[in-house]
Amino acid sequence: MPTPYTTVVLDIEGTTTPITFVHDVLFPHVLARLDAFLIESWADDECYEKVDALRIQAEKDVAENVPGAVPVLPATAPADDVRRSVVANVRWQMGIDRKIGPLKALQGYMWRSAYESGEIKGVVYDDVVPALERWTSSLGLDVYIYSSGSVEAQKLLFGWSEKGNLLKYFKGHFDTAIGLKVEPVSYTRIAQEIGREPASILFLSDNVKEIDAALLAGYQAAIAFRPGNAPLPGHPAGSAAPLTIPLGPAEDVQVVETFDQVFERFVAGGAAP
Ligand SMILES: [Mg+2]
Repeated sequence: MPTPYTTVVLDIEGTTTPITFVHDVLFPHVLARLDAFLIESWADDECYEKVDALRIQAEKDVAENVPGAVPVLPATAPADDVRRSVVANVRWQMGIDRKIGPLKALQGYMWRSAYESGEIKGVVYDDVVPALERWTSSLGLDVYIYSSGSVEAQKLLFGWSEKGNLLKYFKGHFDTAIGLKVEPVSYTRIAQEIGREPASILFLSDNVKEIDAALLAGYQAAIAFRPGNAPLPGHPAGSAAPLTIPLGPAEDVQVVETFDQVFERFVAGGAAP
């Protein structure tokens, strides 16, 4: 029986939200709208800053001989040419699924505009809001988000979700500024930051390497297995059997297909679930 937990840390993609949301909605939005968005926003200071950050990154990439690196033209070049180079640079970076600061900043800038205009709404599974309500209101627990998406992107997704503004449920947000999600030290830092013992924190994620890192940091953990997620090694879909993680210190880790199952399997706040 796991020890009582006082805090929940949630991953987003593949856990609260379909993986397809990012790949079928957010990323395609950037690729489809980038050209027009740059034209519309070109005179804004924020656009200038984002493009300049991409340019500095591109200079570094070229200097370091990163394969396929696409330069961004200097601000003194004709605007159409600069924009074309930005589009080519972003397409290259997204084509190799890069998760680097300047790219994420530009994506976040575009997403903010799309969420605010209602063009995009954040998606969460139906069991997420009832679980958040139960953790925070009924059980008095603290819930945090830890995602490789920037804190800004996290707040947009939950703030402008199709189920309304869900930000009130979260005590705080972490992204890779605290460290990579596959590094145990990141989870140690989060525990320190929020002032809780690692053993009192329950981490939910679909990613086995992240679960492994959290377990190594002393967290409790459960693996989210959601529709659209890649099959888990050794875990037939539809099976409620615990998954064995060979690298982690735990003998087995529970796989949950809904957040309701978290309440069935984990004692919260010392009370019966
Ligand atoms: Mg995930």
